Amino acid sequence: MQNLQENDFSEQRKRMVHEQLMARDIYSEDVIKAFLSVKRELFVPESSREHAYGDFPLAIGFGQTISQPYIVALMTQAADIFKEARILEIGSGSGYQAAILAYMCAEVYSVERIEGLKELAEQNCSKAGFFAVRFKCGDGTLGWPEYAPYDIIIVTAASPHIPVELVNQLKDNGRMVIPVGGLAVQDLLLVRKKDNKTIKEKLCGCRFVPLIGEDAWED
Ligand code: SAM
Repeated sequence: MQNLQENDFSEQRKRMVHEQLMARDIYSEDVIKAFLSVKRELFVPESSREHAYGDFPLAIGFGQTISQPYIVALMTQAADIFKEARILEIGSGSGYQAAILAYMCAEVYSVERIEGLKELAEQNCSKAGFFAVRFKCGDGTLGWPEYAPYDIIIVTAASPHIPVELVNQLKDNGRMVIPVGGLAVQDLLLVRKKDNKTIKEKLCGCRFVPLIGEDAWED
């Protein structure tokens, strides 16, 4: 029974990669490999497991969501992950994005403001076999200074602007992917840091839950 269910999820995973990622604009072989390997069904609540591979976000509790697979893939591809990269994720949520990153590189740090979700993300990553990701409960708008500077920062909640501390904690030539805009809709930005200046490129329009903290939206 368990094997039947696992086969079914593995079929759904392949279909998701082909129909939702490759049929759009996800071409990075490393990203595709990660999405074929990480079991998304382990990162969604039991009650919505049958929809784990749907082309939409899903509720994970505490009023938060696990993002649509395509958006996670687009952010990962834009970040241009490399094996030796040290990556900071802001907004651990279910832990799925952190697991995808951990599949692709050595060092992943992830900050979540809600304690219950930090614990959930940690448990989900362990269930899926990713034990090396380091999680912390705190305000991600202030980054995680102990392990800075980072090669790459991925922010998975919407900010009214680019938080200053995140730019400070990014290496020169580093990249940040972050949704910036209003509470209803935002632009997904790829931000490159060069000689202490930032160069911004808009990737697409998007809709994320708010980044709440000292240098973003108020609670
Ligand atoms: N990356 C997650 C995943 O793979 O499931 C999805 C993240 S969800 C779209 C956004 C998350 O950002 C929520 O869990 C929310 O609690 C968190 N968040 C919002 N403001 C934050 C802040 N200042 N610091 C850290 N996490 C924050």
